[in-house]
Amino acid sequence: MKTQVAIIGAGPSGLLLGQLLHRCGIDNVILERRSPEYVLGRIRAGVLEHGTVELLREAGVAEHMDRDGHIHDGFSIFVNGQRTRIDLKGLSGTNIMVYGQTEVTRDLMAARAAAGAPSYYEVDQVELRDIDSARPSVAFMKDGQSHVLECDYVAGCDGFHGPSRQAIPHEKIREYQRTYPFGWLGLMADTHPVEHELIYINHPRGFALCSQRSLTRSRYYLQVPLSDKVEAWSDDRFWGELKNRMTPEVAAELETGPSLEKSIAPLHSYVVEPMQYGHLFLLGDAAHIVPPTGAKGLNLAASDVYALYHLMRKAYLDKQPEALQRYSEICLRRVWKAERFTWWMTSVLHRFDHDPFSQRLQETEAAYSLGSVAARTSIAENYVGLPFETID
Ligand code: FAD
Repeated sequence: MKTQVAIIGAGPSGLLLGQLLHRCGIDNVILERRSPEYVLGRIRAGVLEHGTVELLREAGVAEHMDRDGHIHDGFSIFVNGQRTRIDLKGLSGTNIMVYGQTEVTRDLMAARAAAGAPSYYEVDQVELRDIDSARPSVAFMKDGQSHVLECDYVAGCDGFHGPSRQAIPHEKIREYQRTYPFGWLGLMADTHPVEHELIYINHPRGFALCSQRSLTRSRYYLQVPLSDKVEAWSDDRFWGELKNRMTPEVAAELETGPSLEKSIAPLHSYVVEPMQYGHLFLLGDAAHIVPPTGAKGLNLAASDVYALYHLMRKAYLDKQPEALQRYSEICLRRVWKAERFTWWMTSVLHRFDHDPFSQRLQETEAAYSLGSVAARTSIAENYVGLPFETID
């Protein structure tokens, strides 16, 4: 088996890269460990930055998003019961789109199937070979048969636990990470969102987020200790605690209902440098993780795809393969800015076991940032997403 780009992983990074490359005539094959149904069953992100929206349009997969997605021009932050609205449109000139990762993935899978581009789902024992040479390959098992996919380049889009990053010799990379001392308990329900826009809450009982996937599907989160088990959280307990963290006026509007899904996710920040080795490129969660505060995970994956897609065009269409050497430095500049912003949002909006001095500093950081137009403008421009770097 031969192709130009072997893509490992059919999450948003792999599918979007595959779609963009296919549209400009660069052959690629996607290898995915899970079934399509399993991939579509994962409940994850739901906020798309302006740049991600534009890239999905460029990829020709925006029809459903433009029909069913919801544009939000702002969101609210409550600190100790005081609301501040971040006017995204007014402060940054643009906005965000609420459209679920599941839907983005479904649209990309459908486009790939319609284009007849090759994908192998439920593959096993994926192994990257000779990635430091000009002729790398990927070995894998499918239905009990072993295969080798020869290629020019490997795109590691296989998430945080996938084999791509692990194929790089340890002494060639540097890892940076931070773990936060709490997790997010998430609940999805077919109820009307409590408000049209998202609400972030810093309350003495802990952080809460009111998010959504559509006008009839809500997604709520609560900060919980890492030791908590999801079984200890009945739906009633969840809704009661969420109301405790809301102001009475907002709580009065909350529509509750049976959960469709409930899970606890730990929060951590992680970056590997560099994001490439030989003919292997890492994209999305394979290269970096952000805490979900600030909704950057899926969007960072999209900006990596943007960079690699444009550099691949240079390599194949303009016959400038040396352009690919710039991939990691281009991505990391934006990755670190998103790491900074999500760390900042997490630090300001959650409750920590702070000493009194640190607690007062956190309160002052929030008061300054929400009270100053200059600081709110900075929040807005980061939330809607910093521009993708132009690749010339
Ligand atoms: P993934 O979506 O992880 O896709 C990687 C793919 O590689 C998977 O399909 C996996 O099955 C496949 N794979 C793994 N190993 C192999 C192998 N050996 N062989 C072949 N294939 C393999 N972001 C937000 O912005 N907001 C949120 O609210 C949010 N919530 C999240 C909740 C959870 C529980 C998680 C895990 C993530 C969440 N994220 C959120 C982050 C966001 O979903 C990710 O940043 C995004 O999915 C990254 O896309 P990706 O394609 O890089 O990786």
